[in-house]
Amino acid sequence: MDAPSNANATDARRIGLLGGTFDPVHIGHLRSAVEVAESLQLDELRLIPSARPPHRNAPQVSAQDRLAMVELALVGADGLQVDDRELKRDKPSYTIDTLESIRAELAVDDQLLLILGWDAFCGLPGWQRWDELLEHCHILVLQRPDADSDAPEALRNLLAARSVNGPSALTGPSGQIAFIWQTPLAVSATQIRALLASGRSARFLVPDAVLAYIHAHGLYRGAN
Ligand code: ATP
Repeated sequence: MDAPSNANATDARRIGLLGGTFDPVHIGHLRSAVEVAESLQLDELRLIPSARPPHRNAPQVSAQDRLAMVELALVGADGLQVDDRELKRDKPSYTIDTLESIRAELAVDDQLLLILGWDAFCGLPGWQRWDELLEHCHILVLQRPDADSDAPEALRNLLAARSVNGPSALTGPSGQIAFIWQTPLAVSATQIRALLASGRSARFLVPDAVLAYIHAHGLYRGAN
């Protein structure tokens, strides 16, 4: 990309990371990515499809198909990119490994923002080497305006020590936690798979090019 838009540092870049199974990618992911990228003036936001997610059931379609759908969805989407490194790895998709690998390719001043929904954030204590994540990135928690749940006990100290007052207060390459409030679109990949499995339309829930790919390859036709 061209000149950085990050006002925090002279030449540091600001890069957001949004992981997921993307089975399939849908407008909820995409709108959320666009809104975060715009409001935080990211230089780049990478969608990172996971190969073998350690925390959930196996995706219903192949890694190649999920990657192809994300690539189609991002055609012409300025600043949004796909990063396929987890699909090339012959191991479970541990976020800490991905962060180390991405960090090794960046300048030391570059700012990395790991974007997590509130639910995923609350599950952090179950992640591989979770206490090392903030050595490599900031964590940006997508919070719903109507959410009222408390953080689990295991995260209270971390939140007290590392939280800053909103995304604009994030400084430096890593180490802090900020919340951003966003009203998510009521769409999930689970819902889309169920629609397709029962022969109903998923039009307007996924980009048209993604829907065309799904139909051309006969995806999600079976039981959910
Ligand atoms: P599934 O229904 O299969 O669990 P999903 O729709 O939640 O899938 P994932 O690939 O698991 O999609 O999600 C990747 C990331 O996108 C997660 O951080 C998740 O919180 C977020 N996300 C999922 N759906 C939405 C949505 N509608 N709006 C904003 N973010 C979303």
